[in-house]
Amino acid sequence: MEKLRRTSQRILTNLYSKSLTTPPRSTSAYSGINRKVNKFHYFKRNFGTKIIERNPAFSSINTEDIKHFKEILGDKNVIQDEDRLATANVDWMRKYKGSSKLLLQPKSTQEVSKILGYCNSRNLAVVPQGGNTGLVGGSVPVFDEVIVTLGSMNKIISLDKVSGILVCEAGCILENLDSFLINEGFIMPLDLGAKGSCQIGGNVSTNAGGLRFVRYGSLHGSILGLEVVQANGTVLDMLGTLRKDNTGYDLKQLFIGSEGSLGIITKISILTPPRLSSTNLAFLACKDYSSCQVGYISDILRIISLFPYVAYLSLSLFRH
Ligand SMILES: Cc1cc2nc3c(=O)[nH]c(=O)nc-3n(C[C@H](O)[C@H](O)[C@H](O)COP(=O)(O)OP(=O)(O)OC[C@H]3O[C@@H](n4cnc5c(N)ncnc54)[C@H](O)[C@@H]3O)c2cc1C
Repeated sequence: MEKLRRTSQRILTNLYSKSLTTPPRSTSAYSGINRKVNKFHYFKRNFGTKIIERNPAFSSINTEDIKHFKEILGDKNVIQDEDRLATANVDWMRKYKGSSKLLLQPKSTQEVSKILGYCNSRNLAVVPQGGNTGLVGGSVPVFDEVIVTLGSMNKIISLDKVSGILVCEAGCILENLDSFLINEGFIMPLDLGAKGSCQIGGNVSTNAGGLRFVRYGSLHGSILGLEVVQANGTVLDMLGTLRKDNTGYDLKQLFIGSEGSLGIITKISILTPPRLSSTNLAFLACKDYSSCQVGYISDILRIISLFPYVAYLSLSLFRH
């Protein structure tokens, strides 16, 4: 028991000191970060027990490609700067590191479509990146994939003030959307610790749960429509704003939680609930796990947003 406690304490101390040294990852602070990423140990990517090798069928970037991307996006949105790439090549947890030599910053769906159409014709591998706060390494290249970042596609397109249906671009930062909605009498149906950096497109692509899940449910219910660019550049317009849409084959659902594997999400339509008049926090002590469950299934289920359990052992580890 004593050994377990000491080991857990060591892990907690490591995690804590890491979080203290982690710089903010918001897109506004992005370009200024020059982190020393090399001192960390990175994991190799594997599929089961097999380490993934680069598929030789993929091409590598050449000067013609760079020229072509500059024609589509303009010089400043075709990024080869080493510091910026160093940040975009490493995930939030600093567990995985790619070696991309190119980051593209489209400003519109048409630009995304042109990028993907070209990459498809040249057999260049691509990884979409939102706020790069994902915890499983999906947002960073495995090898030298072209990184397509959605940060410049951050416009709010419309809000229906009667129904609370918000339409926006995929690069909007979650916290910015929530701040916008609060002034209009609504809130986002999801909230998470990474809200200051993560983007709604990333949230949808990871089917993020977060702190309001119990109350407002999964994004599979809140997302009413999506606009997506497929790998060959075709734009799929599924950007419906009808809440009671019970037509069959709900194609957009495939993209929720697909981590960019089926296409790049460029626009989102989402149902936002009315803002709560007050929020309260309660910390309850239960004598065992079954009593926690009784609390959970009682009347408060109708009004709670989050119901985390903290085991006594974890609390006592913090105390010591
Ligand atoms: C402090 C912290 C707290 C967190 N809390 C929670 C939590 O409570 N619940 C939870 O579920 N998760 C949580 N997460 C993880 C969560 O999944 C991400 O933070 C967030 O949803 C990812 O958004 P992002 O914009 O950073 O996406 P990224 O990390 O950039 O990308 C995530 C994945 O989505 C893909 N992607 C990104 N944008 C697009 C796009 N526009 N189109 C297609 N694919 C795209 C990427 O390729 C990648 O596979 C947390 C993470 C952190 C760091």
